[in-house]
Amino acid sequence: MAMANRLSAAVEKLKSNGVRMTPQRHAVLEFLMNSKDHPTADDIYKALENRFPNMSVATVYNNLRLFKEAGLVRELTYGDASSRFDGNTAPHYHVICQKCGRIEDVYRPLLRDIDDEVAKHTGYSVDHHRLEFYGLCPSCRTLN
Ligand code: ZN
Ligand code: MN
Repeated sequence: MAMANRLSAAVEKLKSNGVRMTPQRHAVLEFLMNSKDHPTADDIYKALENRFPNMSVATVYNNLRLFKEAGLVRELTYGDASSRFDGNTAPHYHVICQKCGRIEDVYRPLLRDIDDEVAKHTGYSVDHHRLEFYGLCPSCRTLN
């Protein structure tokens, strides 16, 4: 879906959940849906603080939690490191730079059979899987 459509669909979803849209909330949502680099709450705060001097990092966090509850964003957790947020909730894989921390989407077909395979071997009912590729991004490679 095009970004503008995804954004207005997301706004409708929030409204139907009874969430009041404020200019800040809209800006956080829009920023997230426009970004391809999986920002942290702090990244989003820094990008918007000039436009909204009264906004706090806590506001950004609260909005992200709200969006997550509404199924509009995916939170990517990496141990103790800050969570990264993904405005694309469709299942996809990520490639991660171990030097600069950049996270990008990987466009390749999903491994559809692996959930069933793991379920069969473990007796678990498997709901989804997470797959990440680690290495160096093109700019970090040239610096090496
Ligand atoms: Zn890098
Ligand atoms: Mn992603």
